[in-house]
Parts: sequence; C-alpha cells; structure tokens
Amino acid sequence: MSDGCDCGASAGPLGLCVDYYHAILAEEQGDPWMYPWHGPVVCAYLLQHPSQAHAKYLDGQFRQLQLYVDQGLDALLRVAAHQVARNNHAARSGYDLAPLEAYAPLPPGVPGRFRASFSGLPVRNGSFVADGHAAYGRHIEELAAATVAGWKALTGS
Ligand SMILES: [Zn+2]
Repeated sequence: MSDGCDCGASAGPLGLCVDYYHAILAEEQGDPWMYPWHGPVVCAYLLQHPSQAHAKYLDGQFRQLQLYVDQGLDALLRVAAHQVARNNHAARSGYDLAPLEAYAPLPPGVPGRFRASFSGLPVRNGSFVADGHAAYGRHIEELAAATVAGWKALTGS
C-alpha cells in the first residue's frame, strides 16, 4: 500500500495526490488564467482526502462543488465573490449558504474510491496547462464530478 493514497488512487508520475495538489497550487500562483479553478481544486482535494480537511467546512465545500458541477465555474465564482463582499461587511457572519442550500448535505461516511483522482491528472513538461486552460478546466470539472459522485454513492442516489 506504500504507493497508494487515502482516496484509493495509486501514484502517478509526480507521486501521490498531495504532490499533484501542491504542484497545482504552485503553478496557479504564477498563472492568473489558471487561478479561477482554485476553489474547485481545493474543494475536490479536501473531499477526496477528508482526513486532511477541517470536518466543519466539508459540508459547505461539498455544496460548492455540486454547484460548480451543476452550474459551471462562473456561477461558483459569483457565489464566492458574494461571500467575500458579505464577509467584508460583517466579518463575523460566516458563510452565506443561501445559494448552496438547494444542494445535498455531506452524507456520513467516507468514499473508498473515486472514478478520477489528482494523481491521474495529465502533466506535460511539468505543467498542468500544457494543453491550454480550457483543457485544464475540463480535467478539473471531471475531477469535481467524480468527487461529487463518489460522495453521493454513499447515499445510494
Ligand atoms: Zn489521493
């Protein structure tokens, strides 16, 4: 099991999922066109590796990922911008969950595997966007959909 990950995936050329995650975070710091997917990347990573996450935030992250899969990146970014504006006006009010209420809560349990994983993301010449940002976005969307599906499978829906 030394080459396996919590999420059930085996290692890829860069290593385990955590190595892919850190490489993405490093690359997006220098690439403003990659950064819009930061939210889905973080939510998908934490939901595939919940032992590395804060349990109290996972429900909101699961709902954000569902909204992204359902309505797309622009819709997710609008919700995030709204939350930032709200938090600036009332720093202690916390998350505004209104746009996310329509989505399913995080089920109890932990999925044993997902149909797509971080260690399966394509990397070429050390880059995640070697095939363009649109292609990168499609890979993140597949990962997000796989993450949502993995959790939803726990409820049988
Ligand atoms: Zn993993």
